[in-house]
Order: sequence, then structure tokens, then C-alpha cells
Amino acid sequence: MPPTAARLSAFTESVIRGMTRVAQRHGAINLSQGFPDFDPPAALLEALARAARGSNHQYAVTWGAPRFREALARKITRFSGVEVDPDQHLVVTCGGTEAMMVAMMTACQPGDRVIVFSPFYENYAADAVLCGAVPVHVALRAPAFGVDFDELERAFRTGARAVVLCNPSNPCGKVFTREELVRIGELAERYDAFVITDEVYEHIVYAPRRHVYFAALPGMAERTLVCNSLSKTYSITGWRLGYVQASARVIAEARKVHDFLTIGAAAPIQEAAITGLEFPDRYYEDFLADYTRKRDVFLGYLRAAGLPFTEPEGAYYVMTDISELGFSNDTDAAHWLAKEVGVAGVPGSSFFHEPVHHLIRFHFAKREETLRAAGEKLMAWRKAPGRP
Ligand code: GLN
Repeated sequence: MPPTAARLSAFTESVIRGMTRVAQRHGAINLSQGFPDFDPPAALLEALARAARGSNHQYAVTWGAPRFREALARKITRFSGVEVDPDQHLVVTCGGTEAMMVAMMTACQPGDRVIVFSPFYENYAADAVLCGAVPVHVALRAPAFGVDFDELERAFRTGARAVVLCNPSNPCGKVFTREELVRIGELAERYDAFVITDEVYEHIVYAPRRHVYFAALPGMAERTLVCNSLSKTYSITGWRLGYVQASARVIAEARKVHDFLTIGAAAPIQEAAITGLEFPDRYYEDFLADYTRKRDVFLGYLRAAGLPFTEPEGAYYVMTDISELGFSNDTDAAHWLAKEVGVAGVPGSSFFHEPVHHLIRFHFAKREETLRAAGEKLMAWRKAPGRP
């Protein structure tokens, strides 16, 4: 039999989604794959029921249903200030995951280099390999995950076609400052590279930090491919609705990639999601207040359990340091915690290019009672002597 494609040996199945299966096997509280255990806003569920009874059950326009794109363009401009023409600057995709694949395939030729900060969300390196590109990793420096601009410039000098920028960052919770983003933009300009952003956590940025939209920086809209999603903002990860936002020149090409990858996102889902895009500012204020509370509750338990961590400035993940706990590595630790303690996280090594084996990523997109139950289990374990 012929061998399967050799490039696939460059990466494994998703460790994040694998840990969800481990959690299910052991009946553990699942703080691994980041998704809520609470309902989306009731208004969205009602809109979905209306959409089910409506007439949007055949293919939508491949690059997005017109009414959805119009509402999306208004929402993007409202928060970022960037002018968005719904007919020229958007491709609606099946989740942020497809958006990233479309962006990378649109920007990169086989053999191109793509800069990926480390730690990174595991899809980026896999997406680069899938489109024949070569990831070039630039380490964010512990403990605050700062950018080493000399190292970044060296990476640009390899002739990189694009840099992937996850802001706020999954997994480390870093929120890039305006100064950092401006410097990244200057390098992208000097070395004529695209900036592919992943901003799915744009509305989960804890005070006093604020989200700076990369495409809104002077001169950056033309070279930015924004990847985004409605999953996190409206707690609808299962709806699989995302988008790429870029210049008309780039979107004309991105549409072709998307058309042949998936044709389009689900038509009734797009119709229903318009309701979310039209939510008032109050929705986003309450949403952030809820996540701030969840963060405070969960970090309180980590502190009480004596587990060191880097405080997240945005998104809903926390990197927890297990180096003093007697495990030989993070993968063993994550499996042991799921089985013996009943709390599942993701081994940190799956997010790093460098050999980093002392971190576990937990997420806190869960009801407060779930977080408290997980926190109690972690505390009880830490109090019980003689166990790793
Ligand atoms: N972004 C989420 C995480 O990092 C969910 C990943 C996924 O399975 N798509 O856990």
C-alpha cells in the first residue's frame, strides 16, 4: 500500500482535544479544552429556534450570508474602529479554526516561513505544515511571556512571509501592549510580511489591560489578516462560526480557498447569530465581569492550593507551574491529575516549541460551581501528604 503523506508526521492529533477524551474516561472535571459548561445567551437560543423554522436551509453565499456580513461589519467597526466593507473585507468561515487555515493558505506558498511565538495555540504549527510552510518559533520569555525583539527580528530575517499573533494569547494569557504591537508592525513592514492575528478572546481582557486591534494600528490594515470567531464571545463554540477580515485584495484570494475547503458556514446558524452581533455594549460589560469573577475564583483556589501560576491578563487560561510537585513530566502529571484528582488540564509542553515540561494549562470558562468543585479537589489533593 502507498504511504500516507509524509508531512503529516510533523504533528500529532490535538493534545487539547485528546485531554477532553481523557477527562471523559475518568469522569474528571474538564478544565482542558476551552469551552463553557453554561448556556449561551437566551436571546441567541431563541434566534436559533426562529432560524430553524425559517427558510435559510440551503447554502448561503459562500463567503457569508449578506445579512450576517453586514451585522458583522458593523460590530467590528463599533469595537475596533476599522472600516469594514461587508462585500470586500470579510470571509465567513466554519469557526476560527477554518479562518486560520484559510488565512495561512492565502498568505503562504509551500516553503515559506511563518513566525509562530512559543507558547502557541497548537493549530498554528499544524496549519503551517498543512499548507507546506515552515514554522519559525520565537520564544516568549518567562515568567511574563515578554517578546525578545532581537530574536523576533532574526526570525523576520529568514524571509518570513507572515507572523501569527494570538492576542490575547492562548495558552499563556498574555495581552500584547500597544508598544509591542507597534514594534511587531514595524518589523512586518520592514521585512514586508503579513500579520495573521487570532483575536478570538478580544472581549476577554482584564482591567487594567485593554485590547488593541492590530488592524487598527496606523498602516496595518493592508497587511493584516484577522482571524476571529463568535465561539468565545457568545459562548457558542459548537456553532462553528468564524471569519477572516482583511483587505479587498487579500479577501478576493481568501474567498477562493474557503470556497474549496468548506463552501460555507451553516446558513441557519449565520441567521441566528446576527442577534448576538447586535447585542448592546452592556452584554460585553457583563460578559467581561463574569469572566473576571471566574478568573478570581479559580486563581484563588490555585493560590490556596499552593500552585504557582502566571496571572492571565486576557483569555480564560492559566499556566500552572507543577515543577515542585514530584512529577517526572507534564504529560504524566496531566493524566494523573485527571485520574486521581478528578481535574483535567492540558500538558503545557503541547504549546511550546522548546522543551518545557513543568506547566499545566487549566481553563476557567466554567460555571462558578464547577470551578469551586475543581478548586476543592485540587486543595484536598495538596493537603493529602505522600502523593505526587
Ligand atoms: N481554543 C480552545 C482551547 O484551546 C478550544 C480548542 C479546540 O478544540 N478547538 O482549548
